[in-house]
Amino acid sequence: MGGRESSHVNASHPSNQTPLPIVDSFQRLHSNLRISVTDRCNIRCQYCMPELVKFLPQRDLLSFEQIERLVTVLAPLGVDKIRLTGGEPLVRSQFPVLVEMLKSVPGITEVAMTTNAVLLADHAERLKQAGLDRLNISLDTIDPALFKAVTRRDVLPKVFAGIEAAQQAGFERIKINAVPLPLVSDDAIVDLAKFCLEQRLELRFIEFMPLDGSQAWQAQDVRSGDHLRRLINDRVGEITPVVAGDASQPAADFQYVDSAFNSLRIGFIDSVTQPFCSSCNRMRITAEGKFRNCLFSDAEWDLKEALRHGSDHEIEAIVREAIAAKKRGHGSDDFSFVRPTKAMYQIGG
Ligand code: SAM
Ligand code: SF4
Repeated sequence: MGGRESSHVNASHPSNQTPLPIVDSFQRLHSNLRISVTDRCNIRCQYCMPELVKFLPQRDLLSFEQIERLVTVLAPLGVDKIRLTGGEPLVRSQFPVLVEMLKSVPGITEVAMTTNAVLLADHAERLKQAGLDRLNISLDTIDPALFKAVTRRDVLPKVFAGIEAAQQAGFERIKINAVPLPLVSDDAIVDLAKFCLEQRLELRFIEFMPLDGSQAWQAQDVRSGDHLRRLINDRVGEITPVVAGDASQPAADFQYVDSAFNSLRIGFIDSVTQPFCSSCNRMRITAEGKFRNCLFSDAEWDLKEALRHGSDHEIEAIVREAIAAKKRGHGSDDFSFVRPTKAMYQIGG
């Protein structure tokens, strides 16, 4: 699935006509597409996947050409930022080739990825060469026993090697995504924050959302952003809020007051306790080609058929229909979410 098979011209918009942007009924402009390239993964984080899991057959995944086609159709409608995710993107064979393909789509200003970094040491340089702009690495703890408990795999040294390789390859402002589950103690969170300061990594906490494969999430398991901000402030270093440059970004960004570290951001995505839905500009496509307008909504629109056999106009029409149906927040109009049926690895984080 690696190489190019064909390229598609967006025929639906003659050059003398400016296409309308993708806007929902709450006037939110959608410019950010998150693409899951696989549901497979080489670890089994408790908050995402069950231990025993049946993955999609390879033939059901979108090919690189189909992903490129979607991006080529959506870029003229204002989509400029792409995040590649999964499952674990680096288990997809020839993944850097996809980065290269998307980087060359006119109008795309940023291609980013989220990875668990287990395979990053082998790929960091190639990803940099391919033009990958940004890297988020998921790491919840630097304690080997806790890491094993959270991920059900004993591979923390590989993650450290991946981080080091990414820094050596020249990636800057690497973000560390941490989902603090109840089994990760406050002490372990403080250690992670200090590690990030030492390594000059930008830590971002994400509140635990009800998207775990075991469907065991309970509201009391959520370590709130408020709690985490107090913890960092009291035990790592004083932090102060930073005015967001990009209103659509989900993290509340803070910076350390200490001048030795104040160029580093620390972010808090309070997706459960303080949803950021009012400025949401995100769209998602799952590894099997289902288009989703919200992480918390079960509604999906099948794009695979259109990507395989349909016209550009059909692809655009499906996306517009899905975004027009987007609810105010958390998949409803009053933020009262029901637990989504699919888990994070099946949607794409
Ligand atoms: N495998 C890659 C990784 O872990 O970085 C990319 C996919 S993963 C699904 C994307 C992000 O979703 C990760 O940062 C992970 O921590 C986050 N995530 C997964 N399940 C979550 C949950 N139930 N609540 C909050 N964040 C979650
Ligand atoms: Fe894999 Fe990422 Fe899910 Fe962890 S969060 S199981 S690394 S897909």
